[in-house]
Order: sequence, then C-alpha cells, then structure tokens
Amino acid sequence: MRRVIAVMNQKGGCGKTTTAVNLAGALVAMGRSVLVIDLDPQAHATLALNGGLSSTPTRTIHEALMRRGDLAPVLVPVEPGFDLAPSGDDLFFAEREIGHDEEGEERLTDCLRVTQRTWDFVIIDCPPSLGPLTFNGLRACDEILIPVEIGFFSLNGVGNLLRSLRRYRRSWLEEKRIRAVATLYDRQTTFAREVMDEVRAFFGDALYTTVIHRTVKLKEAASFGVPITRYDAGCRGCLDHMALAAEVAAQGAAATRDAQEQEGASAAHGRLNLEEDQGDRPGHAVESGSR
Ligand code: ADP
Ligand code: MG
Repeated sequence: MRRVIAVMNQKGGCGKTTTAVNLAGALVAMGRSVLVIDLDPQAHATLALNGGLSSTPTRTIHEALMRRGDLAPVLVPVEPGFDLAPSGDDLFFAEREIGHDEEGEERLTDCLRVTQRTWDFVIIDCPPSLGPLTFNGLRACDEILIPVEIGFFSLNGVGNLLRSLRRYRRSWLEEKRIRAVATLYDRQTTFAREVMDEVRAFFGDALYTTVIHRTVKLKEAASFGVPITRYDAGCRGCLDHMALAAEVAAQGAAATRDAQEQEGASAAHGRLNLEEDQGDRPGHAVESGSR
C-alpha cells in the first residue's frame, strides 16, 4: 500500500529537506521501498541524495508534471528500494507554467495515478512557499508532515501556515492528516526546552513523539550526498530519524485500523482541524517574542 507524505512548511530552513531525505533513508533501512519526489526548484533533496547518483540528472520531475505522465522516465535509483524523482533548474519556471487554478494543482496526483511502479512510501519535499508546486504536493498526499524548528517564533510560523492553508478553502485539504515533527532541537538550552513544551501543547497528539536534535552530522551527510543511514548509522541524527520512521510506519498501521473500526471518529485522532482557529492555542509567549 502506498502512503504519500508531503513534507511542508512555507518557512525555509526548518528542516523539510533534512526530514524528507533522512526519513526516507530510515524507512529504506527498515526494509520499506521509498520514492522521494523533489518538488523544490532549489533541488536540495536531489543534492542531498546525489552521492548515490552517477551524475546530475538531466530529466527532472518538471518533465513529468508538464506531461501529467508516468514518473518512470525521470526516476533515478538511489539504492535498492530507494528512488528519486529529481528536481532541477527547469522547475523554477514550473510555477508559472502550472498556474494557480485548481486543475493545475492536480498534475502530480495525475503523475502518481498513471505511474505503474509502487512504493511503500512516497515522500514529497516541498519548496518553502505556498505556491502551485507546494499545492501539487499537498493535493497528491495523504498526510502533511510539518517540520517545526524549535526556535524563536516557531509557533508564530506554524500559526501563519495553518491560517494561510485555511484561506485557500480547498475542500480536499480537510481530508489530509496533518502531523508535525520537532526539528533542530538543542537540548542544552532552557529556551529550547520551553519552546518544546509549547509546541507539544499546541499540537497535542498531532506531534510525533520523536524529536530531531540539532547535530552537525546531518549537515555533513547532506554535503556528501547521502542519507544519514549511509553516513553514520550510530549517530544521534540517525537514531532520531530511525525513531521517526518507526513512528511514521506505526501511525499508518494505526490510522488504517482506526478507519476500518470506527469509520472516521478515531481516524481523526492526531489530525489538526483546519477549521479551528489555531492562533488561539497556546504559544503566545513565543508568538509575541517575549523571550
Ligand atoms: P528546509 O528544507 O526547510 O529549507 P533544510 O532541511 O534544508 O531545511 O535545513 C536547513 C539547514 O539546516 C541545512 O543546512 C541543513 O543541513 C541544516 N539542518 C537541518 N536539520 C538539521 C539538524 N537536525 N541538525 C543540524 N543541521 C540541520
Ligand atoms: Mg528544502
């Protein structure tokens, strides 16, 4: 069964690409098959997996999006059971070509529908914006995974994001499970611990228990173009992503069970309701920058 997860936050530098690439690597290490789709024209996920590629990809996800076609011709194998739909410079023009209409948002969904090959997980690395490319990722996914950097204005950014999503008034957004993961956590500071508490209070069950710590090894792995599982399997950054992968995999099983057993009631567990005004939830101390 294919599960499609869009890693998304309009804020840059909060760990989207690091989460997408290393969650994928950890799921592969657990024996799952994974496709990473790089939807960011900056192509950071493509670079972060580049060590496993023989050369810079000449065919990119742009081509498949324009054709609304099979992803197969653009796929690059990273390792057995691990594929990449790479990004490249041509994607910089895609936002204009795709347009802002609802039909344009369905291109990636169409590509996945006609693609014969299947994977256990498809992980989409979205660009740091709420433009047409991101909406293609959101439309195509079952779940939205929001990496939340544990730092100044964390909840302010998340509040803005949820409010912006609500403003789009797309009925299909209501169907998406929204979850969050805390990233770039520096456990040595009291400030980080306090922000962490507020992020937990804000998201409740929708926050994965696993926390991704700030560790330089994750940066190093990206610069060598390999997932952390291939760079240093014993380091904190790898253990964190393995724990996240285990939680993500278990969550999928639980959601399926819930949906089968109760048709909706507990399947909503762990889902943020876009109808709520999230701005009224805890976290104002951080939002107002009072620390
Ligand atoms: P985004 O995709 O949201 O822009 P990235 O994943 O590219 O964010 O992360 C931004 C920068 O922070 C990158 O240089 C990345 O290597 C670094 N980074 C991300 N997560 C961590 C972490 N847990 N520890 C250390 N550095 C990190
Ligand atoms: Mg990125």
